Amino acid sequence: MKIFLSVIICRFLSFLGRLLKRGSSMPGLIVLRLFPDVLSRLVFPELVIAVSGSNGKTSTVEMLADALTANGKKVIYNREGSNQTEGICTLLLNNCTLKGKIKADAVVLESDERYARLTFRHFSPSHFVVTNLFRDQMTRNGHPEWIFDLLGRGISSAKKLILNGDDPLVSAYGKGRNDVKYFGVGRTSVSSDTCKGMYNDGFWCPVCHGRLSYDYYTMSHVGRFMCPSCGHGSFDISYQVTCIDLDKKYIIVNGNKTISLALASCYNVYNILAAYAACVEAGGDPDVTAKALSGHILRNGRVVTFKNGNGRGMLLVSKHENSMSYNQSIEYVSRQKGEKTVLFIVDAISRKYFTGETSWLYDIDFGALKAERIILSGKYCNDLRERFSFTDIPDETITVEPDIEKAVRLTSDGFTYVITCFSDMAKYLSKVEVDK
Ligand SMILES: [Zn+2]
Repeated sequence: MKIFLSVIICRFLSFLGRLLKRGSSMPGLIVLRLFPDVLSRLVFPELVIAVSGSNGKTSTVEMLADALTANGKKVIYNREGSNQTEGICTLLLNNCTLKGKIKADAVVLESDERYARLTFRHFSPSHFVVTNLFRDQMTRNGHPEWIFDLLGRGISSAKKLILNGDDPLVSAYGKGRNDVKYFGVGRTSVSSDTCKGMYNDGFWCPVCHGRLSYDYYTMSHVGRFMCPSCGHGSFDISYQVTCIDLDKKYIIVNGNKTISLALASCYNVYNILAAYAACVEAGGDPDVTAKALSGHILRNGRVVTFKNGNGRGMLLVSKHENSMSYNQSIEYVSRQKGEKTVLFIVDAISRKYFTGETSWLYDIDFGALKAERIILSGKYCNDLRERFSFTDIPDETITVEPDIEKAVRLTSDGFTYVITCFSDMAKYLSKVEVDK
């Protein structure tokens, strides 16, 4: 009876929510208030794959869902990124029978790092994928090591872990467990002998606190590492990218599976690899999976192309308070050929809370940016300007324009890359012609 009522209430509220254009977490929130244990009463399929980590969750989930579908599975996933317990509850209740049986062969769930311990108290995933743990929204999340402890409580009940073996912190979840598969990137064209970026969070071993040693770095402090004191890092990498060609836009996994890249960035390579590893671990055929991921264009709105007067451009959603996200956009933009303008907008730091704290700008490697013209806009444009004064980028390249509407007009010629966050993207995109 509880299940029956929960399903009816959830669907009615979801219908109402769609009419009122409200978010998808509200129905789940109300149902969970009425029936706190409803999730533990559902009947799940064999495959329940959770994905968490600081960056890449939404993209990995979307690609994994598509790859599983290509392998003949009926899949449900939280495509709107409602990744806290309420949003997941809405998704599940809207996709089950009146008796609570989930109508899918596989459930793929993006889970917030801090909420995983609350969501997976009610049911256990068959597989848990962790993409990475980077500095992210530190005003809300604190340091990654704190998130490591919180997420650790969420993943403990999963039957199998699929971990980024190049991330010293994430791979530490595998310590003392047998049912773990690691993915990583071998020495390729993007490897470096030093940690690029403004800080190195891979300096100390998260297990024994000894000094880590690296064969090479792939992306920031993520790379092939080893702890000489306790041996952390001495596991086998089951899913390894063995070749990356960002110019010709392809990667090769395990020496023989070629996957072409719609978006040629290291960041995207790790997301594809995580999706590949999870799909194959869930019984997917390696060839079918590689084909499904090949040239995959994300539908989650993280990359938007547009026309602005005589100009064209691309907006790369980069999370404020998340240096890795910004660094990858800067790296991507710098690698693109041709003359370009880069517009940074920092106007509202978060959609969810107010903060005027901008120290995170100093974690971003703005000095690595290669562009003919740089425009800084939004409420925090002067904080951005101050940050740029610590780089070698010539002053005459930089224009400060607090008014976003005026910044739109300044970019109505040539090609512009806009780097900004969810909280600010509409302020630009609403003034230009977005490609369908
Ligand atoms: Zn160690």
